[in-house]
Amino acid sequence: MSAVLEQAEKAEKDASKEAFEINKLSKRLHRQVGQAIADFNMIENGDKVMVCVSGGKDSYALLDILLNLQKRAPIRFELVAVNLDQKQPGFPDHVLPEYLKGLGVPFHIENQDTYSIVKRLIPEGKTMCSLCSRLRRGILYRVAGELGATKVALGHHRDDMIQTLFMNMFFGSRMKGMPPKLVSDDGKNIVIRPLAYVAETDLERWAVHREFPIIPCTLCGSQDNLQRVQIKAMLRDWDKRFPGRIDNLFTAMGNITPSHMMDRNLYPFTTLKTTGVPDAGGDLAFDDDEGCAPPAAPVDGTVIKFQGT
Ligand code: SF4
Repeated sequence: MSAVLEQAEKAEKDASKEAFEINKLSKRLHRQVGQAIADFNMIENGDKVMVCVSGGKDSYALLDILLNLQKRAPIRFELVAVNLDQKQPGFPDHVLPEYLKGLGVPFHIENQDTYSIVKRLIPEGKTMCSLCSRLRRGILYRVAGELGATKVALGHHRDDMIQTLFMNMFFGSRMKGMPPKLVSDDGKNIVIRPLAYVAETDLERWAVHREFPIIPCTLCGSQDNLQRVQIKAMLRDWDKRFPGRIDNLFTAMGNITPSHMMDRNLYPFTTLKTTGVPDAGGDLAFDDDEGCAPPAAPVDGTVIKFQGT
């Protein structure tokens, strides 16, 4: 067989493998988003969902998947895409309107110069993201009211939710994550995160496949919070070295046993009484890990010496 023929056959095989993988990815994304919507009753018949689109891969994917699900859903709901143009220098303000017009989805661009406010209030060299996000949130909630939206959909995904949990544990001493559905802090909006079950790596691949016209968030020159970057790196490293750990962590966020934590507001420890009834799911499940069993060897291979060994 000539080398040219061999090359052509290989290219054909590669293309069909890629098409197969993309098809699998597409099914997984749509299934996971549909599942999250159903599990948390995120979208109901007659809802008008305002989809916040920033120009990043996550919100493009969110809109893309919701538009597909809208066509197949057994319920009727409206979608309206909203972008907040924060007037960052160099923001390509034609990109989103052109893209959204091409999709044929109703949209609104809100022009608000939060960039100048953030620049004025945050000292040079400090991270501006937290104030910037707070301002953005407030404006988007107001716009939701003006548009008559009943739900506000954000593009946060599974890894954002796990990172937030670790940020809060490491730096805020509390077990608080990022919920898939919540009432906004102004009490006026229901915020939903339909990508809650989706892994960021899948969104990265989807963005490349769909050729989303990505607009970087860092146009303003601010860098993502260093602590968040470190936690993200830690979680990605765990995922590589211990496949399944991130999935387990995420499942654990929806599987909490208040009686085996120590939050006195969630469980009445102080007034606890005996029941006289054995609890098969009580402390027994992890007895081996408690008390007398030696701790497992650390993963780096370090040997722990116990007294007398
Ligand atoms: S990178 Fe810039 S635009 Fe993005 S959240 Fe941070 S301050 Fe705001």
